[in-house]
Amino acid sequence: MGINQQQLIAQFPILKQQINKYPLVYFDNAATTQKPQMVIDRISSYYTSFNSNIHRGVHKLSQKATAAYEQTRIHVKDFINASSSKEIIFTKGTTDSINLLAFSFGETFIKEGDEIIVTELEHHSNIVPWQMLCERKKAKLHVIPVNDKGELLLDKYADLLNKRTRLVAIAHVSNALGTLNPVKEIIDLAHQNKSLVLIDGAQAVAHLKVDVQELDCDFYAFSSHKMYGPMGIGVLYGKKDLLEQLQPYQGGGEMIESVSFEKTTYNELPFKFEAGTPNVADVLGLEASIEFIQKEGIENLAAIENEVLNYATAEFQKIDRIQIVGTAQNKASVLSFLIDGIHPYDVGTILNQFGIAVRTGNHCAEPIMKRLGIRGTIRASFACYNTKEEIDRMVRAIHKTIEMFG
Ligand code: PLP
Repeated sequence: MGINQQQLIAQFPILKQQINKYPLVYFDNAATTQKPQMVIDRISSYYTSFNSNIHRGVHKLSQKATAAYEQTRIHVKDFINASSSKEIIFTKGTTDSINLLAFSFGETFIKEGDEIIVTELEHHSNIVPWQMLCERKKAKLHVIPVNDKGELLLDKYADLLNKRTRLVAIAHVSNALGTLNPVKEIIDLAHQNKSLVLIDGAQAVAHLKVDVQELDCDFYAFSSHKMYGPMGIGVLYGKKDLLEQLQPYQGGGEMIESVSFEKTTYNELPFKFEAGTPNVADVLGLEASIEFIQKEGIENLAAIENEVLNYATAEFQKIDRIQIVGTAQNKASVLSFLIDGIHPYDVGTILNQFGIAVRTGNHCAEPIMKRLGIRGTIRASFACYNTKEEIDRMVRAIHKTIEMFG
């Protein structure tokens, strides 16, 4: 491994605690990651030294807060290699980004009979806003199916594309199974068909280098809290010429150029999409999380996670009663599984007794569970602070669980 993992782990204060008298093993990173001290400190320093509303203050604190907020926008632009900071819209998170797009894109571009494509693997956040739009506009939603391993069937995707397809909305990495989708291929095919593409990057940005220009995606959404940053903040990236054409999502302060009862005109990008007082503290926390990832090197973080994922997969394959759910060729940091004869909820409860945090259930992805003929799974999802020793502890706890349930 390229970096000293102990030094890395030491940066996360929450991991020092014990749960049920065992050192905490946190394997619920797809739900939210833990935060390094530098993120916590950045948020705290904003509130202790320059808390102020931004953009419209002439006083020192407001100027300092405004500069820090706009500096983060530039930092996010560089992080995902957007071509302009005007293409970076701060939102509450991935869900908010997708709802913004579904509304604004829908109002601008979707007419009766138009089509939108999603996949069977999506999180509900990348299904329901499109269903709501289709209902509003009498458009149609189509779904790319998967094989039994949880890989998208690209030939079926090609069959679904047609001249009515306006948008393809697809996860970069599946939160339920860990499948890493071939997004570049999907984007290229969509563009050949003159359709636009949104990538839901919620499970990708902390695990692999994202370059929106290289991908050539039209929109990209992600959440700070899944990449070591705070909750309540996220990003919608969009190509400038497209964002400029879209209707605003919410009306209010900051998103306007001028207001009168006769006619209101809207502000320029990105402010047109940021109505109201923004979440300045958490924007600064997001910047610190990007600094954390860049300081450690995303390739180094990904190398740790891949090693842990491969080790866990190999260890689980040795246990007869375990069935791994989601066996795609390309995966990132998620291991979903079932234990024959034991309910996932019971497994999660017993693992918790050993201080191990996993998630059980359908992971907000009911359609893929239904496709695989199951109600849910146990999901262990990894981050840079997870170790092979922790996997060994989980394996021992699973053996104990099997003994207890017989
Ligand atoms: N998309 C994917 C793939 C996710 O994993 C999640 C959260 O788990 C979301 C969207 C929604 O993210 P948020 O709850 O941060 O808005």
